[in-house]
Amino acid sequence: MNWIIGAHTGGEHPLDDIAARDADLVQFFLSDPQGWKKPPPRDDAAELIASGARLYVHAPYLMNLASPNNRIRIPSRKNLAQTVEAAAAIGAAGVIVHGGHVGDDEDISVGYERWRKALDTFESSVPVLIENTAGGGNAVVRELENYAPLWEEIGDYNVGACLDTCHAWAGGSPLETAAQTVIAGAGSVALVHCNDSRDPFDSRRDRHANLGAGEIPEDQLVACVAAANAPIVVETPGGATEHKQDIAWLRERLA
Ligand SMILES: [Zn+2]
Repeated sequence: MNWIIGAHTGGEHPLDDIAARDADLVQFFLSDPQGWKKPPPRDDAAELIASGARLYVHAPYLMNLASPNNRIRIPSRKNLAQTVEAAAAIGAAGVIVHGGHVGDDEDISVGYERWRKALDTFESSVPVLIENTAGGGNAVVRELENYAPLWEEIGDYNVGACLDTCHAWAGGSPLETAAQTVIAGAGSVALVHCNDSRDPFDSRRDRHANLGAGEIPEDQLVACVAAANAPIVVETPGGATEHKQDIAWLRERLA
């Protein structure tokens, strides 16, 4: 198996980021992760496309496609459409979005419908990769079993599943079966976010650690990533040096 591995970076110079990490891909934001602004066009768009580099775009964190609140849900749809368009302009392989969460008093199933309605509002030329989250009893995909009913609503759209190992662990999903559960629900794992966790199993906290330096047993982390059988992004602390170490750590164990 030829593993395709990279890291989340600041994204100012994606091709340099790949080279500095001995990586095969890179993930970054196209706009302020805490903002709603439309991603500005990139001057290096033509260069990025011509490079053939594998690029992933992470959508802003404010986005919540499953929110009961119009003033969050509607801007989230608009911002997702804009982010997908900006991702297409640089030839990105996917746009990663957190599954979001419904209201405290709502049934999670309304979140699946809100996702369908969101995807109905625009044509997506780039796959939208829906990521599991660590916290919240009302999160759409904290429980990995929820990919199955979510996919019944949206499986026909240009979507994929992004499995984050730290979020699964902290969200209370055993890593021995995490990838298998996502594959059973969504057909495949499109992308892995391989992160160790600073917090214990089922802590519901989202704090990433460098690989081997957190709470996740090494064998479980590696087995989960291997079972997912997808490109891998490390979203771990540090810069090029730490990411390069994490990528090498994985390559050694996945070989
Ligand atoms: Zn992630």
